[in-house]
Parts: sequence; C-alpha cells; structure tokens
Amino acid sequence: MKIHSLDVYIIDLPTIRPHHLAMHTIVTQTIVIACIKSEDGIEGWGEVATIGGASYSEESPEAIKLNIENYVKPLIIGENPVNFDALSYKINRYVKGNYFAKALVESAMVDLVAKTLNIPAYELFGGQCHESLPVAWTLASGDTAKDIEEAQNCLAAKRHNIFKLKIGKGNPKTNVAHVIKIKEAVGDAGSVRVDVNQAWDEVTSLYCIEALQNGGVDLIEQPLVRWDNEGMSRLTSRFKVPIMADESLGTVQEAYQISKLRAGNVFALKVPKAGGLTATKKVAAIAEASGIPMYGGTMIESSLGTAICAQLYSTIPELTFGTELFGPLLFKDNITVNQIEYENFEMKIPSGPGFGMEMDREKVKHYSRDI
Ligand SMILES: [Mg+2]
Repeated sequence: MKIHSLDVYIIDLPTIRPHHLAMHTIVTQTIVIACIKSEDGIEGWGEVATIGGASYSEESPEAIKLNIENYVKPLIIGENPVNFDALSYKINRYVKGNYFAKALVESAMVDLVAKTLNIPAYELFGGQCHESLPVAWTLASGDTAKDIEEAQNCLAAKRHNIFKLKIGKGNPKTNVAHVIKIKEAVGDAGSVRVDVNQAWDEVTSLYCIEALQNGGVDLIEQPLVRWDNEGMSRLTSRFKVPIMADESLGTVQEAYQISKLRAGNVFALKVPKAGGLTATKKVAAIAEASGIPMYGGTMIESSLGTAICAQLYSTIPELTFGTELFGPLLFKDNITVNQIEYENFEMKIPSGPGFGMEMDREKVKHYSRDI
C-alpha cells in the first residue's frame, strides 16, 4: 500500500451558542481535515480543531494547511502508511514543531491503515479498555442563571454530570462566586470543575483556589501561564484540590518535566498538543509511570476529530477524570453521515473500520473555504 495523494481542507462550522473562553469567543469553530488516499483508492480522514485562529496555539488553521502541503506532503507521498510511526520520525527530522499539523497527518494515515485492514483504529493502539467514556460539558454562557438551567437540563436528560466552567476572562472574584453558586445548585448530582486557561498570576490563584476548594469544586485547570511550571508546582503542593496541566503539557518532553516537578497532579491529554496519537500514548505512559491520573481533553473537534480522540482515549486504562469530548454537541451541523452517540452521561466509542466515521462530502464542500 502506498500513499497516492493528500488533500487538506479548512472547515468553518457554526455553533449552537457563543462559547466563551479566556482567549476567544467561538461562534464559528474552525477545524482542519485531511484526506490521504492510497493507490487502490481507499481514503483515510483526519482532523484537528483550532481555537480562535492563533489565539490558543501558535498554529493557525491556515498555517496547518500550508505547512502540510509544502513541507509534510512531499515526505510521505509514495510511502507505506502502515509505517505511520516511522514516518512521523521522518517528518520530525525535517519539520520542527507544527504539532497540530503532524497530528492531522498521522490521524489520516491511521484511518487509512485501519480501513484497509477493516479494523477499528484502536486495534492499532493496543485495543480498547473502554467501550464508553464519561463526557464533561462546558457551561460557557457567562450568565449564572442560564448556566444553572443548562446544567440542570443536562442532569435531567442524563447527558452530562460533569461541568466545566471557563473562568479566565473577567474579574476573578466575580467568576469564583459564579462557580460556587453553580456548585451549590448542582450539589452532589454533579462534579463542577474550572478552567482558568492561564489567566491568573500566582497571587490571584492563592485566594481563588482556596475559595473554589472550600466551595466544593473538584478540579482546577491551568491557573498559571503555560511556562510557569514552578508556580504550578507550588500550587499543586499547597492545595488538596487537584491542579490539572493543560496548555503547559504538550509534548512528551514537557510531560516528563511536569511529572518530575509535579507542576500539576492531573494530565489533560490532547492529541494535537502532543503531535499525534502515538505521542499521546507516550504522554499517557509518563503519567502512568508517575502515578498521575488523566483526563481526555478536547480542542472542540467535530464528530470526526471526536472519534479520533475517543478511540485513542479508549485504549488508556486509567482515564480517572473522564473526558470532555462534547464537540459535536456544540455544533449546528456536522461533516459525517453517522454521528457520535451520547447516552447515560457517556459517549459510545465509535467502532466501525478506521475511526468509525463516514464523511459527508456535500457538507465538507459546503463548509470548506480557501485560505
Ligand atoms: Mg483547558
């Protein structure tokens, strides 16, 4: 089997409501998808999602597309995708950084190989430990009454019982009070967690985390800027409430440094941050070796990207904090014929050949744009 072609598309998908993050408000989410075709005409599809252009990561959707077309594509055309890990090493020799771009290409290669073998992709990563996984929902309307109503609707529908609040934007004390009111309303029926998206300094973190811990919040995600591992380490040793590393935790090397410094005592895995599926398994191995529990993060992928992350996360035994693979629920429309199924507070791991998703070509055409 040889790789015959590689095409990259930028897709803009509208969301059902504005999604407020510290760095950006999403009303249209941009994902990048890739199609790798073998000489026998079989297609493998991959996806990575971006948030707010270059506001979350250095890699904008446009840069991902251009760098793949100009620098990665020539390295893999004519190669056998069965060697996807070896090919990633080859790509790493010639292309520095560009982790999202590399993750996109690897996921399309994996989908192609698994479809050719007629097996689910998770069989290429050691097999499935979970048939379904818990999914957190992000309450991001910014309005306390609306967020409480949304949480109560999720609980009643048995859709989600884990709620995350993005509190990096605005006044920290007001935000903390907002979260505590939501925790009081939800009570023991749900877990309430916060993501600060690097917005606080250490002094602000000291009083805010104390208040959140006393208010019954279960997890504090990335309070400090991504490079401040020493500060994260001090916060982790000071509080009982777990502190999760997200933006500071990308590559395998960063995972090692964070585990050594205990700059966070929970790892947020994300396939594109690490540079691919194989690299994410290595990050998970460092967590496992260090006794650090894990969480399956999202960049707010569509159904395809969600299936990619879900299949990989399903191969990791100790995903103690569940996942946040809610992406498809935030979109007005989707680019696959079949959809991710959510029931009883969990998502079912897709199990068809490849990542188990069939592309809707009309939708891909409809929502794609030029650079
Ligand atoms: Mg986060």
